[in-house]
Amino acid sequence: MNYERYYVCDLLNGEGVRVTLFVTGCPHACPGCHNPSTWDRKAGRPFTDEVRERLLDLCATHDGLSLSGGDPLHPANREAVGELCRLFRARYPDKDIWLWTGYRHEEVAELDVLRFVDVLVDGRYRRELPTSKPWRGSDNQRLIRLRR
Ligand code: SF4
Repeated sequence: MNYERYYVCDLLNGEGVRVTLFVTGCPHACPGCHNPSTWDRKAGRPFTDEVRERLLDLCATHDGLSLSGGDPLHPANREAVGELCRLFRARYPDKDIWLWTGYRHEEVAELDVLRFVDVLVDGRYRRELPTSKPWRGSDNQRLIRLRR
């Protein structure tokens, strides 16, 4: 898996103060996408074990981890994202994971990685459906609390 960037002390991608990772690789090609530079899964830099450990360390002083992109559930990203989430959960059982995907929940509900995700924001971005709902880019997208 590759990633484009990550933010620390992020207040915009989920509740509280978060570490947010933007992976590359997205198969959805939504018209009007704000992050087309993340579509190519070979774009960005390799998400090495060292980067993963650095992110996990940063999470110690934040409320949770947010995963965006790109699509963290692109088939090529599922294994690495699953391992990141598994390690996060083991280390921080009281913190949460938010994940944004262009897939609908029904399409990915059986994926192992979702066992670790607290909040899923699902669905492709549809610019013809503007929204004022927090944390969503268009009105069709749902915020689904999977845990707690
Ligand atoms: S799912 Fe997100 S990153 Fe992928 S094309 Fe749609 S808006 Fe862009």
